[in-house]
Amino acid sequence: MARMRGRKRKKSIYGLQLGWIFAAVVSILVIIVCGEKLIALSNNFKSDDSSQNSNKVIADNKEQETLNKPEKTDPKTPTGTDNTPETKTPTGEANTPKNESTSPTDITPKPTDITPEPTDITPKPTDKPSKSEKEDNKKLVAFTFDDGPYPPVTKRILDVLQENGAKATFFVMGNRMGTYPDTVKSAYEIGCEIGNHSYSHENLTKLDTDKIIYEVEHSDDCIKEVISVGNVLLRPPYGEHNELVDKTVKVPMIAWSVDSEDWKSRNKDSIVKEVLDHVQDGSIVLMHDLYSTTADAVEYLVPELIKQGYELVTVSELFERKGIEIEAGKLYRNAKSK
Ligand code: ZN
Repeated sequence: MARMRGRKRKKSIYGLQLGWIFAAVVSILVIIVCGEKLIALSNNFKSDDSSQNSNKVIADNKEQETLNKPEKTDPKTPTGTDNTPETKTPTGEANTPKNESTSPTDITPKPTDITPEPTDITPKPTDKPSKSEKEDNKKLVAFTFDDGPYPPVTKRILDVLQENGAKATFFVMGNRMGTYPDTVKSAYEIGCEIGNHSYSHENLTKLDTDKIIYEVEHSDDCIKEVISVGNVLLRPPYGEHNELVDKTVKVPMIAWSVDSEDWKSRNKDSIVKEVLDHVQDGSIVLMHDLYSTTADAVEYLVPELIKQGYELVTVSELFERKGIEIEAGKLYRNAKSK
């Protein structure tokens, strides 16, 4: 019996031990499983946060990009391909480099996308400013011929001008228009300007209002009949004007700053000397397409002045290029830059 009891005790002790071990194993398993779940849960939370953060970062970047993009594209959109130099030149190169220098610091990844564009653009602005600089630096002079047309002389002058890509202004007489319309037409067709020198070369300061109107406006009508352009510039005969003339005349009046005195000397060398001694940027030169000696002088002067860096332009172009707006009823002797 004692043995039996002993065996039974042993068995119950074993049973108890097994029970404890089983309970311990189960609890360990439970702890492991729960632990894993907790870790997984915490990871999920973490990953949600980080993804939210990364989304935020992306969103911020996008905002930055969209904020920065207009700055970058704005100066470029108007510049386009053909317009680039134009918009860049007047707005000033100083503005564009500023934008370019600020934007790369704002968005570091962007420059890789954009760098090719600036390299495309750079050659263009360098082309244009140099051109406009050249134009601005060019000395301009306007040759003017009064009292014509007189085909034997006028045609020679037109030939020299055309051969040299030069232009001039012809202040014609209204009463000669009917006789030589073709000479005036061909002058106009090669880009020369036709101005009005009154109908019959009367000194306007000695006339009353009606006669001034007749001398100026009748002559202008005769010019309009030939070239289909009216209200042309007026050179009052002898360069004379007074208050009444200023009030009555409805176009700008053009005098001169260099008198070749061709009518007085009728000598090629002295005409050439008069012009070369006095010509400067913005000059208006007075000559007459009536004398062969004037044509001789012009044949020498046109290529010579071009060699000296002058561009021979019409009176209207001279004032336009110098940025001077000419007004009706006012007399101008030259076009000096502001
Ligand atoms: Zn005259």
